[in-house]
Amino acid sequence: MAYKDRIESDELKLFRSSNNRMVLPSKEKNIYLHLEKGYKGEVMFDQLTESMDQKKFLILNDLRLETNSTNFQIDSFIISQGTHFPCEVKNFEGDYYYKSDQFFAINGTEIQNPLDQIKRSDTLLRQVFQKKKYSISIKSNVFFVNPAFTLYQAPLDKPIIYPTQLTRYLEELNARPSILTDNHYKLAEDLVKEHKPCSPYIRLPQYTYENLKKGLTCSSCFSFLVKAGETKIVCSVCGCMENIEDGILRSVRELQLLFPDIKITTNLIFEWCKVIESRKQIRRILKIHFKAFRRGKYTYYE
Ligand SMILES: [Zn+2]
Repeated sequence: MAYKDRIESDELKLFRSSNNRMVLPSKEKNIYLHLEKGYKGEVMFDQLTESMDQKKFLILNDLRLETNSTNFQIDSFIISQGTHFPCEVKNFEGDYYYKSDQFFAINGTEIQNPLDQIKRSDTLLRQVFQKKKYSISIKSNVFFVNPAFTLYQAPLDKPIIYPTQLTRYLEELNARPSILTDNHYKLAEDLVKEHKPCSPYIRLPQYTYENLKKGLTCSSCFSFLVKAGETKIVCSVCGCMENIEDGILRSVRELQLLFPDIKITTNLIFEWCKVIESRKQIRRILKIHFKAFRRGKYTYYE
């Protein structure tokens, strides 16, 4: 169990939803695939750290911090006695090489050097700690989690953990003696308080309500091939079942995320969900979970 859990970012949710409901231009599609892949890698890493001794380590997943108006992000931060471990997780797949302090894909395309990334967040993190008067030693590493990743010509002295070393590294870390005190919990609490849930760098695909495909989608595989019964929504592709109320609310939230200023009305949700046959059912659920406002003959929900 992590002290702070990772949740999907709004950016990922927006790209996923628009990708599902329209054909994204190739540049946006690449951003989306990159986001999805990155998130998958982080979840993979979380599954490995999940089993670490909670009495010895506090794990904070996905920290977005700010210092002197500069934002930075740490994929996972492991608090332990003596030293803390900021972890940068990469889900790179395929062959890469390292040359004069730069990272390249095997076809020669230069990519952002993750070692520069951790150097930057290291510096900023130290600033945060200094301001809070925490004297702390930190050790940052880049973790490559994809088993199909290879890096040629990397120097031995770089803080890189390769897929083949991942399990052993975490096992060894877990075996270290570490006694947590109130100060460690206070630090964790402080960092969670400082955490900014929304990224200031959110990129947005271009879409309009009209050009998005309508329909409630499966909560698990995002397929539109769902059937709504009296109380349940059933996916014809993966068989996933969901309570109808949860499904409708999830669709409303998705719509609100895509269009933060949109006025939620029964008719709009009826059109957006498509598979719900009864407007009455939609109205009842909106009434329970939102506040109703009247404007002329329309009722909208906030
Ligand atoms: Zn499904």
